[in-house]
Amino acid sequence: MSDGQEVGAGTAPLIELRDITRSYQMGSEMIYALRGVSLAIYRNEYVAIMGPSGSGKSTMMNILGCLDTPSSGDYLLRGQYVSDMDDAELAGIRNKEIGFVFQTFNLMPRLDALRNVELPLIYAGVGMGERRDRARQTLAHVGLEDRMTHRPNELSGGQRQRVAIARALVTRPSIILADEPTGNLDTRTGVEIMRLFEELWRDGNTIILVTHEEDIARHAARIVRVRDGVIESDEENLERTMLIESAERSDDEVSG
Ligand code: ADP
Ligand code: MG
Repeated sequence: MSDGQEVGAGTAPLIELRDITRSYQMGSEMIYALRGVSLAIYRNEYVAIMGPSGSGKSTMMNILGCLDTPSSGDYLLRGQYVSDMDDAELAGIRNKEIGFVFQTFNLMPRLDALRNVELPLIYAGVGMGERRDRARQTLAHVGLEDRMTHRPNELSGGQRQRVAIARALVTRPSIILADEPTGNLDTRTGVEIMRLFEELWRDGNTIILVTHEEDIARHAARIVRVRDGVIESDEENLERTMLIESAERSDDEVSG
């Protein structure tokens, strides 16, 4: 978050995909997961990437997260070509700039919540005292101050996902990438997790959320629909904008 706050940073895209393709050779067959995707995402946007299973959402997410490289096209992060970065730069970006949240939480089963959240800070070379402080603060921020010494199997699904979100946030990344983060949660817990994303967005984070569920996508401010490896539509979520405006109007009426 720190070095992205300079004057003018808000006017250039944080993320830019230019005509990205990704194909896989499967024996004699070629599978085209992405067939030319162009997309610009700005600081503090809240974007849902929607589409049916197999449409290319996870492939896009993995490219955005620098976990995978496109077959063709360019990916620019803060105006810099990702293809020009060496392994050390890429590892730094994955660890510090991007916070990942997965459907299956991906926590370390033997480590308690505090240590799971500390992990990215160990990789980032942050010293023990600061590491522990920051992990504690971040867990408190997601409402888990009283669960720090619990291991994943001693936590509910929603609590596990909160630990995973704290782990994604602890490095203060500029981008949060979440791939079906409510996919393994019941509806009520899913709603709680969506409320947490909402808060993170209001705190100034940039959130990119992959989902195949309309009910989850409605929380985002912008909805990008993907089908068969191409972007089908990319629109402001007007329903949401109107809801916020009417909430603000009724706030005014109450306070005025
Ligand atoms: P989604 O996340 O929208 O369900 P994916 O991005 O996972 O879709 O997959 C898009 C397409 O690419 C699918 O047809 C899938 O089978 C194929 N695909 C994804 N990953 C691989 C891979 N590693 N090898 C071969 N095909 C893949
Ligand atoms: Mg997927």
